[in-house]
Amino acid sequence: MESTRVAGLALGSGSGYHRCMKIYTKILIGMAVGVVLGLTLGPTSELLPHDEYTIGDASKTVFRLDPTKPETQLQFPTRTVKGKTSGPAIVARANGDVQEGEWNKDKTLRIDWVPVRIEISQELALFDADGTWRKEVVQKKIGESVDAWLEIRFRTLESGAVVASQEPLSGIGNTLNQILNPIGQIFMKLIKMVIVPLVFASLVVGIASLGDVRKLGRMGGKTLGLYLLTTAIAVSIGLGCAHLVKPGQFIDEEEQAKLEEQFKNKSDEKGEAAAKAPSAIDNVLDIIPENPVESLSSGNMLQIIFFAMLFGIALTMLGAGEAQIVVTFLDKVQEAMVVIIHIVMKFAPYGVAALIAEVVGTSGISVLKALLVYGLTVLLGLTLHAGLVYGGIVKVFGKLPLGAFFKAIRPAQLLGFSTSSSSATLPVSMECAEENLGISKSVSSFVLPLGSTVNMDGTALYQGVAAVFIAQVFAIDLSMADQLAIVLTATMASIGAAGVPGAGMVTLAMVLTATGIPTVGIALILGLDRLLDMFRTAVNVTGDLSVTAAIARTEGEKLQILTPEQDVADPDVGFEGRVSEEMEVVEPE
Ligand code: ASP
Repeated sequence: MESTRVAGLALGSGSGYHRCMKIYTKILIGMAVGVVLGLTLGPTSELLPHDEYTIGDASKTVFRLDPTKPETQLQFPTRTVKGKTSGPAIVARANGDVQEGEWNKDKTLRIDWVPVRIEISQELALFDADGTWRKEVVQKKIGESVDAWLEIRFRTLESGAVVASQEPLSGIGNTLNQILNPIGQIFMKLIKMVIVPLVFASLVVGIASLGDVRKLGRMGGKTLGLYLLTTAIAVSIGLGCAHLVKPGQFIDEEEQAKLEEQFKNKSDEKGEAAAKAPSAIDNVLDIIPENPVESLSSGNMLQIIFFAMLFGIALTMLGAGEAQIVVTFLDKVQEAMVVIIHIVMKFAPYGVAALIAEVVGTSGISVLKALLVYGLTVLLGLTLHAGLVYGGIVKVFGKLPLGAFFKAIRPAQLLGFSTSSSSATLPVSMECAEENLGISKSVSSFVLPLGSTVNMDGTALYQGVAAVFIAQVFAIDLSMADQLAIVLTATMASIGAAGVPGAGMVTLAMVLTATGIPTVGIALILGLDRLLDMFRTAVNVTGDLSVTAAIARTEGEKLQILTPEQDVADPDVGFEGRVSEEMEVVEPE
């Protein structure tokens, strides 16, 4: 059997270990590069001129070809020639100063005009304000441009301040994002590629290797219990922190209007997505797949988990002799997925730099300043939760030294942070659990895939803070019953939410709806969401691993944290996973 081992998990010799920088050091460097790149050359960078208007919800944006002739107005864009509504692909580059416009009669709206050059980036049908089709613009080819004027509406606030509805971004920054986006996407897609086969294979193998349905019941009960308990505690910590710090009181009217204006359209989308979300009963029904192959192909995690569990149980009931061939097959599938991840992780520092530069550059410092207290409240809650709850679980149940534990799971935390996806982090989490913490495969391959979908403490905590924050801004008093409802819905929502970037935002809309807090409030926090997503995902991943350590220990396992020396000494263990140059040939038996 020895020859069937693909030399992919090997670490390399001691000297190789010293020569090659540790993977998490490289990822950290990638992150730092990403932050610097995003802040200096990103779309919202304060160092660059903000000269580009990207029109998202175009139907509300009015251009006119000549400011002296209002009859040449264009509504931009309306729809593509082929009949489908066009996406946000219009870029207008400002080529001059803002022209002071006029106030409307009651002085609530000032309209300015900016001369812009619109680059035709897709085939469009343009209509006049009165609905007449403007052929001459359509006849321009993709890549050509039209000079026009963009209407900017300034709203007056009660305080007398004016707020613009469109804000230009840096053209250079937008271009940088276009370059970075595919690099980040490649990395994300490469890791996402292994998730479905990995989750399926490892759950089946995990369950079959328990060898006993009663043990499965006990472990399953413990796992779900701990996952739900920690999530409910997380929401409560979030609520507590938000009441203590009162971040809502730090937002003034002007900032509130500005944020709402800036993110209104997007928050409507999230609200709609949540409104479309099925009811609780439907959610339960939806866990049972009608066609497991379809669940696998669409990547429906809860359905995959459900089917994999039954399949694993069925194999156990068939008995070791009969079922062994299937288990061995899936075991090797799982190992091969891990090897793929080792290969992909070589690209991690670059992927991570691109992902982070895009997020940091797009979120921008100005939103950060406005929402600083809110963001810090979320971070405070996350830190408390990780320190107290996970610290407690790891120490009391896992009986592991905290420092060494957090060090051992660092690659998973960093990857969770930079990809904002617990699912994408799963392969590395499993690797950390098995190799760095010495947790058995049967526990890790059961508890972790479940956790990456079902357990999201960071997300639930952030929803607690966000709900109270929005309620504070809109001066809504939350009763005890309301807060209990938040704890319950956020805990339930975290089970259904997928471990992908921004999932917590959509389920937040559900939590708000359930408690009667206006979902437009999401517009307030949307600007900071992607940044906070990174932190909460790192916490989600930490939670999964802490519970896994606790379950393993209570199942009587002896956990052993891998030291760097052992890592060097044994080429078959450790996370570094340098894929050795020579691969062994897999001989068919
Ligand atoms: N990105 C989070 C995760 O994958 C979910 C969320 O909070 O949006 O764990």
